[in-house]
Amino acid sequence: MTNDHGQTTPSGTLANGDLTTVVTSADAIPVTAESDPGAPHGYAGELKAMLIDTETLSAKIRQLAEAVAADHTDDKPPVLVCVLKGAVMFLTDFVRALPMPAELEFMAVSSYGSATSSSGVVRILKDLDRDITGRRVIIIEDIVDSGLTLSWLRKNLDSRGASSIDVVALLRKPAAVKTDVHVKYIGFDIPSEFVVGYGLDYAERYRDLPFVGLLAEHMYR
Ligand code: 5GP
Repeated sequence: MTNDHGQTTPSGTLANGDLTTVVTSADAIPVTAESDPGAPHGYAGELKAMLIDTETLSAKIRQLAEAVAADHTDDKPPVLVCVLKGAVMFLTDFVRALPMPAELEFMAVSSYGSATSSSGVVRILKDLDRDITGRRVIIIEDIVDSGLTLSWLRKNLDSRGASSIDVVALLRKPAAVKTDVHVKYIGFDIPSEFVVGYGLDYAERYRDLPFVGLLAEHMYR
């Protein structure tokens, strides 16, 4: 596996400072009939592999929360902006791990494109409830793929007069390396495969899984 600095990183090691863990296809634990982590959640036979388990997600989220808190020493709490629906699980665990007060805001956007890739043309379905002028904003993202959605969101929030905008993304795919959108805090660099679970869906299914997995091919072919 090669990270965004062009270095080869063995699986499970940290890139991007000490924060980002590189997860490769070799880290995926294949699902078998005897061991199917989707089964207790009603998804027996629908997953191909487990990519990031619940304990690993929790430990990473604590680490991300501590890193963000260490950088935010203002008296005024930051405004966490969660993009519905994929980042909901991440937001709720992140904010509970954050050792400082934070305010929560939600946005829902729809991105024109195919089911599995975005075009960067975005429509707001639900807007923020409050003015963010002069506020420090932290965007909470589930996954950065092409980075088009995030790039649009950043510009949009910037135009409303936020005093600073940082991004925390749980997952990043290799395509994101090509975009110029800066993501300060990244949990995991993952392979270029379609992932589900922990908020991420395929046709609204699998968001409720407490881990990140790979969908079995027969589910989308
Ligand atoms: P981008 O604009 O960065 O290409 O796409 C970002 C959005 O696409 C994410 O917020 C997520 O909703 C969706 N997305 C990208 N990759 C995946 C994936 O592997 N699985 C799922 N379920 N959604 C994804």
